[in-house]
Amino acid sequence: MEMSRKFDNHVLATYKRLPLAPVRGEGARLWDDSGRSYLDFCMGIAVCSLGHCHPRVTSAIKQQAETLVHCSNLYQPAIQAELAEEINLHHVCLPGKNFFSNSGAEANDGLIKSARRFGHRRPMADGSPRTEMLTFQQSFHGRTLGAMSATGQKKIQEEFDPMLLGFRYLPFNDLTALETAIRPETVAIMLEPIQGEGGVHIATHAFLLEIARLCKKHDLLLFFDEVQAGFGRCGDSMAWRMIAPEIEPDGISWAKGMGGGVPIGAFWLSDRSIDDHGTALSSIMNHGSHGSTYGGNPLVCAASLTVLREIRESNLGAHALAMEARIRQTIEAWKLPHIREVRGKGLLLGIALNAEFIPTQEGSTPSMTMVHHLLTKGLLVPAAGADAIRLLPPLNVTAEEVDEALSILLDTLTNLA
Ligand SMILES: *Cc1c(COP(=O)(O)O)cnc(C)c1O
Repeated sequence: MEMSRKFDNHVLATYKRLPLAPVRGEGARLWDDSGRSYLDFCMGIAVCSLGHCHPRVTSAIKQQAETLVHCSNLYQPAIQAELAEEINLHHVCLPGKNFFSNSGAEANDGLIKSARRFGHRRPMADGSPRTEMLTFQQSFHGRTLGAMSATGQKKIQEEFDPMLLGFRYLPFNDLTALETAIRPETVAIMLEPIQGEGGVHIATHAFLLEIARLCKKHDLLLFFDEVQAGFGRCGDSMAWRMIAPEIEPDGISWAKGMGGGVPIGAFWLSDRSIDDHGTALSSIMNHGSHGSTYGGNPLVCAASLTVLREIRESNLGAHALAMEARIRQTIEAWKLPHIREVRGKGLLLGIALNAEFIPTQEGSTPSMTMVHHLLTKGLLVPAAGADAIRLLPPLNVTAEEVDEALSILLDTLTNLA
C-alpha cells in the first residue's frame, strides 16, 4: 500500500498500525480508502462519544471556525467559561474550578503539579514538602514524563528512566495493601475508578471508600482520572458515581470523550477549604502557576460544550446503561467457552478472552488476534491488555448497531481456525 510506505518513510513508528486507512465517518460507521465500511466500536478510543461527524457537533465547529478559532488565555473567551460552567453545574455538581488542556496526559500533569503544590502548602512535620503520589498497578495515565511516571505499567516506562520521583504503585482493589501504604511524604492518591487501558477493571465500592477514608485521615488529595470513563460513558456523567456516589474527590481529569473528536482535556480542583483560614484547594493553582497556549481555545470549547449538552439533554448515560444490559444478556446467552467474562460499566466494556480458545501466532496476543479477525469482518474494536478486547461504541449507538456488532463477534468466535 502506497499509504503505509509513506507512514514507514515519514512517520515515527511508535504505533503498530492496523492495515486500514480511514477516510470518512458517519455515526457508528467508518469508511476506508477502498470504500469499504466498518462498524466502529473503537471510536478513536472512546473519543467520538456522539459518533463520527454528529450534525450538532459539526455545525458547532463550522460556526466557531467562521467566528473565532483561537485567541490564547491572555483574554477571556466566553465559550471557555461557559464550558467550565456546564461541567461544574451539570456534570461534577460540586464547587470547583477547571483548567483546560489539550490531552489526558496533560490534564494528569496538571493534577500532579497541584498535588506537589499542596505538598508544599501542607508539609511534613519537619517542614519539608510532601511529594509522594500513590497510583495503581495496571493503571494508565498518559505518555508525558509526569503521566508516564504515574502509570503503573513497566512496558510504558521501558528505557525512559529515570522516572519522576515520588510515585508508588499499589495493587488495585487490594484493601490490605492500602493499610500500610501511607508514609509521611505521601500527599495524594490518584486512580481510574474504572481502569481502561489496563484491561477494564472496576474499583470496588469498599476500595474507593477506604481510599477516601485514608485521604481524609492523612490529609491526602484524592484524584480520579476520568479521562476514558467520564462524561456518560459509564452511565453517570462521572464514573466514580457509578461506584461510590458518596465520595467527593479533590481533583478530576478528563479528555477523550469530552470533545467528541477535537483535542481537549481538562482538570478540575475542588473549592473545598484546605486550612483554618478557608483557603480553597483550587486557589493553590494561582496566577502564573500553570498554562497552555492552545488549552481551551474557542474552537475546541465550542465542540466540547455541544458534546456535553447533547449527552445531558439526550440522557445518553442512561442509554449507555441500556445498551450495556443488551450486550451482557446477549453474550451470556451464547455460553461460549472463548469468553471468560464481561467487565466494565456502561459502554466501557472489556470482553475477557480465554486464551486457550483463541489460536494465536507467536509474538501476538489473544486480544490482538481478535482485533485483526474482527477488522477483517468489518468490526473495529481496540484491545485492552493481552487478554481482553474493548467495546467502545458511541454513546448514542442504536440497538440494531449493537446487535450487528455482536453477531460479527459471535460469527468470528465460532469460526476461529
Ligand atoms: C487515554 C488515557 C489517558 C491519556 O490521554 P491522552 O489524551 O492520550 O494523553 C490518561 N488516562 C486514561 C485513563 C486514559 O484512558
